[in-house]
Amino acid sequence: MLQSKLFGKTLREAPRGEVSNNAILLSRAGYIDKLMAGAYSYLPLGYKVLAKIQQIVREEMEAIGGQEIYMPALQPKELWQETGRWEVLKEIMFQFKGRGDKEFGLATTHEEVIVDIVRKRLTSYRDLPLHLFQIQDKFRNEPRAKSGLLRGREFSMKDLYSFHASQKDLEDYYQKAIPAYQKIFKRCGLQSIVTEASGGVFTKEFSHEFQAPTPYGEDEIITCELCDFSQNTEICKLKEGDKCPKCGGKVKLTKSIEVGNIFKLGCKYSADMGLTYADESGKKQEVIMGCYGIGPSRVMGSVVEVHHDDKGIVWPKNLTPYHVHLLQISDKRKKDAEKIYQDLIKQNIAVLYDDREESAGVKLNDADLIGINLQLIVGDKTKDKIEYRTRSGKDRGIIKMDEVVKAVEKIYH
Ligand code: ATP
Ligand code: MG
Repeated sequence: MLQSKLFGKTLREAPRGEVSNNAILLSRAGYIDKLMAGAYSYLPLGYKVLAKIQQIVREEMEAIGGQEIYMPALQPKELWQETGRWEVLKEIMFQFKGRGDKEFGLATTHEEVIVDIVRKRLTSYRDLPLHLFQIQDKFRNEPRAKSGLLRGREFSMKDLYSFHASQKDLEDYYQKAIPAYQKIFKRCGLQSIVTEASGGVFTKEFSHEFQAPTPYGEDEIITCELCDFSQNTEICKLKEGDKCPKCGGKVKLTKSIEVGNIFKLGCKYSADMGLTYADESGKKQEVIMGCYGIGPSRVMGSVVEVHHDDKGIVWPKNLTPYHVHLLQISDKRKKDAEKIYQDLIKQNIAVLYDDREESAGVKLNDADLIGINLQLIVGDKTKDKIEYRTRSGKDRGIIKMDEVVKAVEKIYH
């Protein structure tokens, strides 16, 4: 991709009113455009990153048996009345009238719709277990939508729903979902702490949140310095320095972002909506459910909160919108830069080529702001050679023209 043609130029200033690192940096670097508080468009660079996160999520959900579907965001009131949640969620759900007197809501979540789909098709225990997921936008009338992609009023969510014939089967699947989630966050360059949290209004059991530690997080969690004990302060009575109830070690308080949350739903929705199956003896039984959410757009914002410096974004290599940012900073070496550009394209290496007529300073600053994982700099200083450096600063050096493809491949494998 030629940067001179790229839609979404870098901006000197973030839009007024943006206070979070992720919104400021992603706006300035040309990844997102703010429509209003809590609603962002993804520009070409931004959409590439979001799609990469969604693809990682998709791969890991398929690896634990998830089948992808896609459900409507526009939903009828009657369905939500079956579970009583039309009332329960009315603060957070966008609810409105359509033609005539018909009322609709925009999906805050999809339990009602998925149960409706499954109850029409599920008959016997042989149809179980079943794991369905989608990656789709959710709508929530959030009171605080000031943290960019971390808290959208419209945001991307992956929601998986699992259906089981026994509590044990749900338990087993739940225990598989935890490492699958950890793998997702690891691939996205985020540390994730499995944290006990409230199970919601319908259960006394805990749910499990995946918390990415960062001083910019809105959540606070208690963790143990010795073992894996961790609880959200929403349910935890311990204070920093207290004894860990699990191992006796000391606990501490950490700020973090909730990037994922998984729940055992039990029979709440199947009971309310009549989702049953016939067991081996032909007896009707309620289906036992679990649900598993991740916000890909929140993950994108979180990655920027965790991985940035005073110059800009520092994308981890799995999320970088392009693998290479090729910077031609000397007119005399235009031919060399163009040759490398063609060589990389031939090898199917995603490259953004800064071919603009701008000063070296502007190009280098923009590259640091945009944060593509690997920069290749074609300038006078290196004579007929090329300087490479990873945005994180970990890896750098000078290589010959014909070593470029190999060097890039080495970094990405
Ligand atoms: P929070 O407590 O932060 O409001 P939640 O507990 O209501 O979130 P869930 O219903 O558990 O969120 O949603 C599953 C996942 O969807 C969350 O773990 C998070 O990654 C993402 N998510 C939830 N709300 C938002 C939002 N407003 N903007 C972006 N992502 C969100
Ligand atoms: Mg949650």
